[in-house]
Amino acid sequence: MIEKQFQRLSKEVHICTRCELHQHRTQAVFGTGNPFSELMVIGEGPGEEEDKQGLPFVGKSGQLLDKILEAAGFSRQENVYIANIVKCRPPANREPSPEERSSCLPFLLLQIEMIQPSIIVLLGSTALKGLIDPEGKITQVRGKWMEWNGYHVMPTYHPSALLRNPELKKEVWEDMKLVVQKYREMVDPKHHSAHL
Ligand code: SF4
Repeated sequence: MIEKQFQRLSKEVHICTRCELHQHRTQAVFGTGNPFSELMVIGEGPGEEEDKQGLPFVGKSGQLLDKILEAAGFSRQENVYIANIVKCRPPANREPSPEERSSCLPFLLLQIEMIQPSIIVLLGSTALKGLIDPEGKITQVRGKWMEWNGYHVMPTYHPSALLRNPELKKEVWEDMKLVVQKYREMVDPKHHSAHL
């Protein structure tokens, strides 16, 4: 059932022309992972590699994200679903505008409604602004649980910020500890993580 709904929505996304980002895309990037996951990770938008491959987080940032998730006991094949605020690549990887974010948001809201994750991790300020608070500052709210529409939301830094400034890794790791703790409380007390 959910797979069919996902297929229908994905088709809609692939032919969407709601905002001007469709003019620059090779293809739209819908999302990836297990749609029955209790953990959902939301990023900003596709970059060059994602636009080529049609999958989110497959470039350098994606490889780092996979490492972080793996260390916390999660993987896209098994127990996490990954999507972005905008589904088409902004030219030259610029930040999506507020109008582009809000044009694309209904797709993400439907994805969240279908998945109904117990926990949402927001990666970076565009994800925070796009989903919860247009004025939000990731530096101020990261590492603190937020309640949004009944979901537990943990904002943290985007992996591309960690590539620019490796010092931030420590903070992301602290945030992921809280995610694992919450996951054990809410989803699976036996959740295994090699490092936490
Ligand atoms: S970014 Fe979203 S709203 Fe804009 S064209 Fe792509 S799918 Fe449509």
